[in-house]
Amino acid sequence: MAERRIRERCYMCESESNSDEHVPPRGIFPDVNALMSLGIQGVDLRVNLLTVPSCAVHNMATSRDDEYFMYILAMNHATNGTGEIQLLTRIRSAYERRPALMQSILSNSQPAIISDGTEVFNTRAVQVDTGRLTRELDKIARAIYFSNTGNRWFGNTFPIIEFMEFIEPQQEEARRSYARYRGLAQLGTSGLQRHGSNPDVFWYSVVERGEGEDRIVLLRLCFYGGAYVSIVLFNSLPQQRTGND
Ligand SMILES: [Zn+2]
Repeated sequence: MAERRIRERCYMCESESNSDEHVPPRGIFPDVNALMSLGIQGVDLRVNLLTVPSCAVHNMATSRDDEYFMYILAMNHATNGTGEIQLLTRIRSAYERRPALMQSILSNSQPAIISDGTEVFNTRAVQVDTGRLTRELDKIARAIYFSNTGNRWFGNTFPIIEFMEFIEPQQEEARRSYARYRGLAQLGTSGLQRHGSNPDVFWYSVVERGEGEDRIVLLRLCFYGGAYVSIVLFNSLPQQRTGND
């Protein structure tokens, strides 16, 4: 009798896995045909991609969020040439097939001026669906944790989307808190090893502290060489001290 193969469990739930889910989504890595259409030969940005075992529900559930995330990343001002390749190939053909998503992203955009410290650019600012991005980043954080440890993360996740700006005057307080979080995330992960076989598209660093309920994990992700996201994995927030003790 053949030995029964022990099936792997899904990275998100107790179900048996029946597929491998790419993390981050495979679609953000320009494929060979896309590169060749721009005259770039002999480069494969889809080698050694990270995958986690996934059940059918968790592999299918997020494809629309994946697509949205891909658009927002490739349209971002902070990306490198690989992000531009993605915009000219994958995003352009997706737009031609189904213009609704791009139209809805651009429908609430407004002119904006940004600076990278040396140059000033005229561009457009789009309102980001943070709920959608948060769901996508929660999934990515749990998948990376699973891939590193072999265990599911049961706690919370908190994303700091570093490439997002708060531009409305009434968002000044949010802008300042975000700047503090961003600074902490940079400090916490500076000098750490970068993981990822295709760093022009994606790499990440990870640092962990504590055990059990006190365990805290900080992930810093970099997409297209300049669009950063940090994600804190934590169980519970420290109790606020009250009174005069
Ligand atoms: Zn599942």
